[in-house]
This record gives sequence, C-alpha cells and structure tokens, in this order.
Amino acid sequence: MVRAADNIELLCRELSDEHDYLFGIPVDKVSYGVTYCEVCNSRIDEFGFCACGGSPD
Ligand SMILES: [Zn+2]
Repeated sequence: MVRAADNIELLCRELSDEHDYLFGIPVDKVSYGVTYCEVCNSRIDEFGFCACGGSPD
C-alpha cells in the first residue's frame, strides 16, 4: 500500500523532471513566489503546481 505522502513525493519528483525539462531548472531550485509558469502565467507553488499543472493542453 502506498501512502499519500509517498504519492506526493513521487508526484513532486515527476513534476520536478517536467519543470527541469520545461524551464531548465529543477523545481526545488525555484523560489516560491518568484517563478511563473510560462504556459498559464500563474505563480508556481512549492509543489511545482500552477493553474495549468504544467500541461499546455
Ligand atoms: Zn501553468
């Protein structure tokens, strides 16, 4: 059984990879409140989430 915390950690890791690919910088290197999504122009939170979740479509 997978705990929710493990899911979140895994999700963050996947998002980090996604952001590393999209922005050329890992999420954990991005400062909260400073980085905005290039797709939806929303502020990316500490989990790497924005309004579009990093999905252009
Ligand atoms: Zn976005």
